[in-house]
Amino acid sequence: MMPCYSGYTKSGDKFFICGKLGPHCADARCMDVGTILCDYPVGDGKTCDMPICESHAFEAAPNVHYCPGHALMWRKFVDAGGVERDLKNVVPFAAKERT
Ligand SMILES: [Zn+2]
Ligand SMILES: [Zn+2]
Repeated sequence: MMPCYSGYTKSGDKFFICGKLGPHCADARCMDVGTILCDYPVGDGKTCDMPICESHAFEAAPNVHYCPGHALMWRKFVDAGGVERDLKNVVPFAAKERT
């Protein structure tokens, strides 16, 4: 069976297409094509790899996209000062390694 997709184009028009375009977006209510894979690290050097469409992908950094669930986790982490704390820990450690 041919999968079908629907969503909105960049210009805001609704589209409906059928064809082998790949996995659907991970958002339960979204029928768009998941053209972007979640880059959230899940350990062992692996990333989440959840397929997400352009409108549901959260851009955490240039070319780093997170799925809706991981975008939420990322926001909580940032709100809790996680990024700043991590940078403070990482930089002195890296400097020590080099000497
Ligand atoms: Zn979507
Ligand atoms: Zn994810």
